[in-house]
Amino acid sequence: MTDFHPIRIGPFTYEVEESPDLHDGADRLYGEVDHEGLVITLHGGSALARKRVSMLHEIIHAIANAHGVTIEEQAVVVLAGELLQVLTDNLWLPGWLLREGIHVERA
Ligand SMILES: [Zn+2]
Repeated sequence: MTDFHPIRIGPFTYEVEESPDLHDGADRLYGEVDHEGLVITLHGGSALARKRVSMLHEIIHAIANAHGVTIEEQAVVVLAGELLQVLTDNLWLPGWLLREGIHVERA
């Protein structure tokens, strides 16, 4: 049983998984995104708030990858944390952003 559904990001659909042991060499990771296999993996032992930031973090990386742009790691860290804070501290905002009638034009 998982809380996750596939996530469409640009032309790709990423699966989301949790792993109890997520490392990059000696460093433990909170999350990672595999652009080849189209998988976002979150560290299963993290607190929910950490998982949510990690999810947004990896989504931002996937957006950048889909558009072939580079976003510095520090900017991804700031954007993920601050986006989650803005959305959770302004609960009217997600509903307003996603209200019926939304139509996103793609270039
Ligand atoms: Zn990152």
